[in-house]
Amino acid sequence: MMLRLLACLAASVAGTAAVARAGAPVGPPPVLFTHVRVIDGTGAPAQPDRAVLVENGRIAAITASDPAPPVPAGTTVLNLAGDTMIPGLMSDHSHVGLVQGATVDGGHFTRAVILAALRQYEAYGVTTVTALGVTKSPLFDTLRREQHAGTNAGADLFGVDQGISVPGGAPPDGMMHADPGQILRPATPKDARAAVDRMADEGTDLVKLWVDDFRNGVAGKPGLPIMSPAIWQAAIEEAHARGLRVAVHIHDLRYARLMVAAHADILAHGVRDQPVDQALIDAMKRAGTWYIPTIQLDEASYLYAAEPGLIDQPELAQGLDPALRAEFSDAAWRQKTLNAPLAEASRRAVAMNQQNLVRLVRAGVNVGFGTDSGAMPLRIPGYAEHRELRLYVQAGLTPLEALSLATSRAAALMKLDDRGSIAVGRRADLVILGADPSADITAVDRIEQVWRGGVRGASF
Ligand SMILES: [Zn+2]
Repeated sequence: MMLRLLACLAASVAGTAAVARAGAPVGPPPVLFTHVRVIDGTGAPAQPDRAVLVENGRIAAITASDPAPPVPAGTTVLNLAGDTMIPGLMSDHSHVGLVQGATVDGGHFTRAVILAALRQYEAYGVTTVTALGVTKSPLFDTLRREQHAGTNAGADLFGVDQGISVPGGAPPDGMMHADPGQILRPATPKDARAAVDRMADEGTDLVKLWVDDFRNGVAGKPGLPIMSPAIWQAAIEEAHARGLRVAVHIHDLRYARLMVAAHADILAHGVRDQPVDQALIDAMKRAGTWYIPTIQLDEASYLYAAEPGLIDQPELAQGLDPALRAEFSDAAWRQKTLNAPLAEASRRAVAMNQQNLVRLVRAGVNVGFGTDSGAMPLRIPGYAEHRELRLYVQAGLTPLEALSLATSRAAALMKLDDRGSIAVGRRADLVILGADPSADITAVDRIEQVWRGGVRGASF
């Protein structure tokens, strides 16, 4: 698998280099996709038999396929009869450089590990990833610039430098095996402001806070220290003073309410302990607060133990590290995982998160898309995003609604108005599927081609 992946990557990188030699402003060669069903990512119904022209990495025209639209000389024409085109998927909450194989460690924050993960995201059709903290500067900042410029294959990269918690707080050092400095843990409001300033100076896209005792719904589990109001208030004020928005890790309704009241901009996880209420909905709508459900995070805690047959399905097998495959194939590991108190708590969290998602979407709250993929080994980059879409549809959203969250709404959360839908002028970040996901969301597993900025992307 890896050899095939590398061969595909070599071809796409070589193509990029040829373009670069021809002169800086020249984009990739034009492509016309014909006879394709287009799902534009806005939630609008699929449009049959469209022709989509891509020039200089952007969508230049969307027309009927017959008669064929005029195209520039040298245009490659691809007949996609029977296929469906969706915008590239986007995760607003993932992580890079934390996991390698079945281990999580600060030592994994390397160029090679991160680029391999970004290629895997892209091969799964996730063309833009936001890594919400636990990063290292300057490597993270360098890689973001390179991915924006298209220097390497793999998903475009945005995110948070480090992020802010409290001494002894979530996520626990013992769980993340993070190096000192990968998470900033100020003890005073003054230090919290300094932590924000450091991230701002490094060019972070957002500020991240953890405000959670990390019990994850497990009864009787002792909680970790939670950030004090004085610290979060100082961090949020300083972030806003520096022109940065704040995304907060929460688990419980109580902290969701407090964070919206404190003017945090993004709730980076779904509310999982109890149903959201009208007061929270009203406050979020008034403030324009965004919400990222990350339902797969909890599903991943039991999924592979509960459904060992998944490893034989190509959509998982293609992105599954051998160390994880060995774990999932081990009956003792599966039994231990299913017997852990976390498994039952996670099932309850998934159900509550699903119920809250539908209520918030129907109420018109701003909802984006994310999974926390890459934070821990069981949260598999790319595959997690496909599972997340299934979980939304299982919760009661239509496939078109689920796809709109993962494309146009995810882009709106990140204020990226150059992507997230199939419309003239947008980046040609496109996924070609061999089946129609508006009929069955599992069609997202049937990826035939991925394009990023008009260049053919990584594939398995
Ligand atoms: Zn996270």
